[in-house]
Amino acid sequence: MNDATEFPETLTGAIQYFADADRALNFMVSIRWADGKAVCPCCQSSNAAFLATRRLWKCRDCKKQFSVKVGTIFEDSSLGLDKWLPTFWMIVNAKNGISSCEISRALGVTQKTAWFMLHRIRLAIQNGSMDKLSGEVEADETYIGGKARSMNSAQRSKRGRGTGGVGKEIVIWNVAARSN
Ligand SMILES: [Zn+2]
Repeated sequence: MNDATEFPETLTGAIQYFADADRALNFMVSIRWADGKAVCPCCQSSNAAFLATRRLWKCRDCKKQFSVKVGTIFEDSSLGLDKWLPTFWMIVNAKNGISSCEISRALGVTQKTAWFMLHRIRLAIQNGSMDKLSGEVEADETYIGGKARSMNSAQRSKRGRGTGGVGKEIVIWNVAARSN
């Protein structure tokens, strides 16, 4: 991340930081694609044009458009990165754990929404990856299931590829939380 020096140290800071859509986008790009170059989730091509006004990429090879959320735990959610990333921040920085009530209050979302984000993010941290879990494709904010737990080892190893930067960023956040 090129602006790591101003990375938020407080929750208020995190909320303000990720309220800026371009900043949130840049942050996601830096944790998804280690070299900062978008990779098409359909054909794995890195030959994609960035459509700045829509914050989307268009693959020059397969012509499909994709956002930074495609292929991640955020993909099938209508919640913006301005909610997901501060929630992420809260979870990794909470020394004694965090409840959905606290997230709900801090971000002004319903407790149900907060619970949904908390559940997904915990799974991502547990798995060291923000890649979408294949068993959860049909899940949405109104459905909170434990399907990901039944994921088999083939799915686990499949998720491991092509996202070198993701686990690293989670580790950085965890380390930052512990060193306080
Ligand atoms: Zn493509």
